[in-house]
Amino acid sequence: MTAQGQPVTAAARPAGLAGQEIPYDLLLKGGHVLDPGQGLNARLDIAVAGGKIAKIAADIPAAQAARVLELRGPGRHVVPGLIDVHTHVASGAIAKGVGVGMCEADAIGVHSGVTTVADCGSVGIANIGVVPAYILPRAKTRIVTLINAGSYGHAMPGPADINSPDDISRRAITVGAEHNPGLIGGVKLRLVGPVFQTAGEAVISTAKAVAKDLGVPLMVHIGDATATDAASAARREELTRFLLEAFEPGDILTHLCTPRPGGVLDRSGSPYPEVAEARANGVTLDSAIGLGNFGIEVARRQADLGLYPDTISSDLTIGSQTFHSLLECMAKFMAVGYSLPDVIKATTANAARALGLADEIGAIAVGRDADLSIIDVVDGDFTFTDTNGQGFTGRYGLVPVRTIKAGEEFAPGWGTHPWGWLPESAPEE
Ligand SMILES: [Zn+2]
Repeated sequence: MTAQGQPVTAAARPAGLAGQEIPYDLLLKGGHVLDPGQGLNARLDIAVAGGKIAKIAADIPAAQAARVLELRGPGRHVVPGLIDVHTHVASGAIAKGVGVGMCEADAIGVHSGVTTVADCGSVGIANIGVVPAYILPRAKTRIVTLINAGSYGHAMPGPADINSPDDISRRAITVGAEHNPGLIGGVKLRLVGPVFQTAGEAVISTAKAVAKDLGVPLMVHIGDATATDAASAARREELTRFLLEAFEPGDILTHLCTPRPGGVLDRSGSPYPEVAEARANGVTLDSAIGLGNFGIEVARRQADLGLYPDTISSDLTIGSQTFHSLLECMAKFMAVGYSLPDVIKATTANAARALGLADEIGAIAVGRDADLSIIDVVDGDFTFTDTNGQGFTGRYGLVPVRTIKAGEEFAPGWGTHPWGWLPESAPEE
């Protein structure tokens, strides 16, 4: 097993070049460049100037850059800046003790190998004002904000964001969007709580109408732990099918592998016919793991069926930040059987497309922002736990080494676990 996250070697610029022009600010030298969205998989140098990718070539002389990172090493890869399409980073938007605790964007972003995060419904129209005022200005990580259909976001005490269809203020959201151009990247709805027993269709239709008003995707959380009796569980199944029919191209289903009532597989383990129809119609299937929505049996069954997630995301909150990371979520999917290129594509090209940003992020290309993640793929015997507490094993761990965001370089934090970034090691036999 290779050591995790060994420091990169930063070479000093060769002496004797005084007066000569240095065209590049930063040179990533000798790295294994992997960008499955573009079919790029080769040892290449990448030069950065003015925050943009300036050149990609087999050999760019070190003397042409002010700073050089030597990236040869076992398992070391340079990939497009990773994108986590489901997180909660509205730290400070919600009073402590009320609702869901939020992460600091940079802790789970640039200091965790991730250059872009989507905040998914942490705030609603009543508290979204904190995002442009306090959260975006202090984050180096790019944040895409999906507004909760419910007015207070995740601030409501108890499990539900919405308790009546009237909790969606369609007019306020429209006015808020008009006055904050570019702020709202999507609408988020959670199919959680008793309202879905009685008025589920009306709530889904209203949230869809709001997203349509704004011209943004609707992301919907499936899987409801509050649906504990058989009748409620059957109702969640019905609503998931209704939802898949209501979705339009670009909309996002999140928690694909949920073991909770309302998942996409019927009781015999077959997907509802609406799933294939939705996918054919351009709906994104996101697998946000979080603390409750990743069943290993569900994930394995879906892999066997070819029902793979388009995007892999973490659903990180303060409660899960010390439990896993986006990289560890990717390692979990590698343990299910997905390849490294599969999980990279799901967190780069596919994730960029899901957020409507495929022309800007998610690819390593000349002229684009230099958003790059340098990661180590570490071989080992690792153990993971699904959100039902069931253990499983995997052969790979992923460790962030450096993050480059628009040309700026960030070192990783300590990691999610007391021992650092790697998943837990399996006990020796
Ligand atoms: Zn979430």
